[in-house]
Amino acid sequence: MNALIRFVTVTLVAWALGSYAETADLVIVGGKVITVEAAAPEAEAIAVRDGRIVAVGDRAEVDAWRGENTIVIDLEGRVAVPGFIEGHGHFLSLGRSRMILDLNDVESWDEIVDLVGAAAEASEPGAWIQGRGWHQEKWREVPDDVVDGVPRHDSLSAVSPENPVLLGHASGHAAFANERALARAGISVETDDPAGGTIVRDSTGRATGLLPETAATLVSRVLAAELATRSEAQRATEFARQVELAGEEALAHGVTSFHDAGVAFAAVDRMIELDAQGCLPVRLYVMLSEGNEALARNLERYRRIGDFLTIRSIKRVIDGALGSHGAWLLAPYADMPESTGLATISPDVLAETARLADLHGFQLATHAIGDRGNREVLDVYEDAFDTDVDDRRWRIEHAQHLHPDDVVRFAELDVIASMQAIHAASDAPWVLRRLGPERAESGAYLWRSLLDAGVVVTNGSDVPVEPISPIDSLYAAIVRNDREGNPFFPGEAMTRAEAIESYTLSNAYAAFEEDQKGSIAVGKLADVAILDRDITSVSTDEIAATAVDMTIVDGVVRFVREGQFPAIEAVARCQW
Ligand SMILES: [Zn+2]
Repeated sequence: MNALIRFVTVTLVAWALGSYAETADLVIVGGKVITVEAAAPEAEAIAVRDGRIVAVGDRAEVDAWRGENTIVIDLEGRVAVPGFIEGHGHFLSLGRSRMILDLNDVESWDEIVDLVGAAAEASEPGAWIQGRGWHQEKWREVPDDVVDGVPRHDSLSAVSPENPVLLGHASGHAAFANERALARAGISVETDDPAGGTIVRDSTGRATGLLPETAATLVSRVLAAELATRSEAQRATEFARQVELAGEEALAHGVTSFHDAGVAFAAVDRMIELDAQGCLPVRLYVMLSEGNEALARNLERYRRIGDFLTIRSIKRVIDGALGSHGAWLLAPYADMPESTGLATISPDVLAETARLADLHGFQLATHAIGDRGNREVLDVYEDAFDTDVDDRRWRIEHAQHLHPDDVVRFAELDVIASMQAIHAASDAPWVLRRLGPERAESGAYLWRSLLDAGVVVTNGSDVPVEPISPIDSLYAAIVRNDREGNPFFPGEAMTRAEAIESYTLSNAYAAFEEDQKGSIAVGKLADVAILDRDITSVSTDEIAATAVDMTIVDGVVRFVREGQFPAIEAVARCQW
């Protein structure tokens, strides 16, 4: 029988039996559902059909949807929440970080040698092996024959004789190369030190492999040149692999949608291709990162709204970060009185981006960390809002440090505060040093003040700046401690319900998607994360230990934590 006839026959028979239209593809029962719906915040069960939620309610209601082929997920006391939405992260950098060796947690030189040896065995001869994050001060012991605190390359070269190796230092200010990489860069006993760097050598004049500052670029530019010669097919495959790895990482943390905060057109083109093949592992909401001229030429043809790929936002950056004294402040830094930070673009340039955004129906999302940066962005937005455009939902990314007077302006202008709660925990010591205690208290991470003023506050991780863990950020939002566990102006903490909403429904709103996702409600996309405990009722300490046991996207199980749900297998959308 031909497939179409068979399909029609089966469909007609099913209709005739009165069952086809009524059964779910998947039901989730046996636990608690946190819906993030104000009218009914809790439920017992969910039914899913064709990627959409068709029932939410008590067990009996959902059991009515069960048919012969319905997959049943028994929570056994676990908790289902709306799939988390990463509100501000860098998807491709996340994938990239999984493609090179992560040496951040390495505790000895021998461990590095072992990791590189294993990578060399798995690589084609001649292929580069890259890594980053090593730091000799994290090593438990240092071998005897070190030069400048770091061993010579011999042991590394022995395990990777055919593959050039380049390993970036955690500081970003040095790299380490093996013999093959030094040879590819033409570094020999005769090579002069470059300006601004030193080739570290042993007593015989031979390079040890350690390349501080610009000496590292002698090797990295050879690597870059070799990568540039790859074929189009190789690059496309590598991009797909990068997306796949980022997707794995997101799904393992219950993240089903991701706001990608700054993507160039060239990368967007590849995303569009992967989307057309049905290969995006999570739903991407893309903020374009390009200059005004390129935006003016291209915005119209890039705009799209889809199930897995939406492009309707522009990312701009008005200042730097607080740690490097780059955040643009109204008054000088407490620990650098001669500086108020810096603007990375002038407000006039931002005003032109604002005009282009309105002209082409794009949202504008501008990175601002300091109180001056935030005020300047609000000024530009306020001017732009003189022209009547419906429902702009413009955002300020980070909105970390505000003048208290500007809180109400977010509310009046309907500007979204796109914040990352985890940054407060990580940056607390910096904030106090850079701003001093008074300005830190009145202006840093004002979640409570903003929420009370009626501002939409979103949440995220800024991955790879922080690990992509909604749980970490929820914990930071709720307890508001620094990394050492000291309270950091806890008066600005969120309630648990607010924190969960910030990572789900508020992030959906910030992407114009609150009618599609962000809560568990009939008609919405079936994106669900399953947690091992109830984050609304466990002790605050226990929140931090919460594990994601399963992630469902579009009604399909895409992640199952090892050892959980033995009868259910997760399937990847595409594999490269
Ligand atoms: Zn970012």
